[in-house]
Amino acid sequence: MQDNAPVSRESDGKDLFSKFDPIIKMREDLLSSGVEDPFNLVMEQVLSPTRAICNGRETILLGTYNYMGMTFDPDVVDAGKQALSDFGTGTTGSRVLNGTYQGHKDVEDALKEFYAMDHAMVFSTGYQANLGIISTIAGKGDYIVLDIDSHASIYDGCKMGDAEIVPFKHNDIEAMEKRLKRIPEGAGILVVLEGVYSMLGDVAPLKEMVAIAKRHGAMVLVDEAHSMGFIGENGRGVVEAQGVIDEVDFIIGTFSKSVGTVGGFCVSNHPKFEIMRLVCRPYTFTASLPPSVVATAATSIRKLMHGSDKRAHLWENSKRLHAGLKALGFKLGTETAESAIIAVIMPDLGQGAAMWEALLKEGLYVNLARPPATPGNMTLLRCSLCAEHTTEEVKTILDIFEAAGKKVGII
Ligand code: PMP
Repeated sequence: MQDNAPVSRESDGKDLFSKFDPIIKMREDLLSSGVEDPFNLVMEQVLSPTRAICNGRETILLGTYNYMGMTFDPDVVDAGKQALSDFGTGTTGSRVLNGTYQGHKDVEDALKEFYAMDHAMVFSTGYQANLGIISTIAGKGDYIVLDIDSHASIYDGCKMGDAEIVPFKHNDIEAMEKRLKRIPEGAGILVVLEGVYSMLGDVAPLKEMVAIAKRHGAMVLVDEAHSMGFIGENGRGVVEAQGVIDEVDFIIGTFSKSVGTVGGFCVSNHPKFEIMRLVCRPYTFTASLPPSVVATAATSIRKLMHGSDKRAHLWENSKRLHAGLKALGFKLGTETAESAIIAVIMPDLGQGAAMWEALLKEGLYVNLARPPATPGNMTLLRCSLCAEHTTEEVKTILDIFEAAGKKVGII
């Protein structure tokens, strides 16, 4: 036999892609019903935070994370343009080498001011912020107690750090305490919670949970991705609204939602926090954000500090949409509006996709969410409101839901 002859393996036509066969089949089954692909929508033109052209038609956007409508704010856009001209298109390097420009320091200063905290560290995405902070502070031999419905980036951070993962039932205070009681004495513990859970739009009982975590000697990290800018008197999140901001050790956030651009961050008052810049691999071993992005983020964050009118209007929109959908007979993820996310529960994926398409044809875009991203195997139409939706637009949205719901037979 020649040395370079191919090695024969029993393959049955299988290769490394075979594990994706079930999801390929699910997708083919869905599309064979003739429904438009809900995971392949293209926005041909974006007109404003709440309007885009999709399939040649002007569409109301009710499925973005643009909660505070900052993407077209003139000051934010100008700051980005100016930084692009002054500093170029990208840094081409890591934050710890050639990738820290004045703008990166400035956006970290803006975050420190926004949260009134001592330290802020900016990552290239929110995903990387969770991945980096969680994997770096909780390693082998440590314990991470987390809500079972935590975001993928939280789970991936746990896995990367190799700590013992102890999940508890969603938003269940007693279940969390039970898990904490079983952890061996002397072990390092990190409790990871989210302010708003993005699938159902429900809020965590942080006041109780943070108190229990502290009683058990744990450090606490709260991901406030979906509440920054909106919830709390100053938009600092559920930690602010429930009065526990001074008790938590780390707040994780993103620039990809209320801030209106891309990037992630962690803020903390821990006196040793700055060492994270040298030991956190997803911070160190990647290029820093482009100057235009950090300039838009800094400007947006500073404007969000004075966003109380927008916050009030967004609450009105949320409450109005929730009440209207409930009155139409839709099944919703929460009893009342707890955040800017209103989840409409669909009977199954087929009807969910049909409803999604019917809404789009009527000129309304929402997110179709399905397992494994959703809890309890649910198919959801996730509506996320924007402070720039007018009261009139919310009424139009309800009319479109009524027409589509009747057409598909869901109401
Ligand atoms: N945390 C939560 C709770 C999220 O929902 C998301 C994104 N949807 C992230 C983190 C990651 O944020 P980014 O888009 O900045 O990566």
